[in-house]
Amino acid sequence: MAKKQDFLSKTKRFEKHGLICQTCGDTISHVQVVRTEKSAKTDAWRFNQNFVAVCKCNEKEVYA
Ligand SMILES: [Zn+2]
Repeated sequence: MAKKQDFLSKTKRFEKHGLICQTCGDTISHVQVVRTEKSAKTDAWRFNQNFVAVCKCNEKEVYA
């Protein structure tokens, strides 16, 4: 039962568009952030992709 509730809450969250941040009241959008990192071992560039929730609270940090 607990497992089923977990699944339902996650699904709901995923389908819910236009979430509002309770801190700044701005709409939260999900942005794909790709960072390149150079591996010290192989000397090759690696790409790290992350989806980040962005609102007015952290947009300056994300887009910096
Ligand atoms: Zn916010």
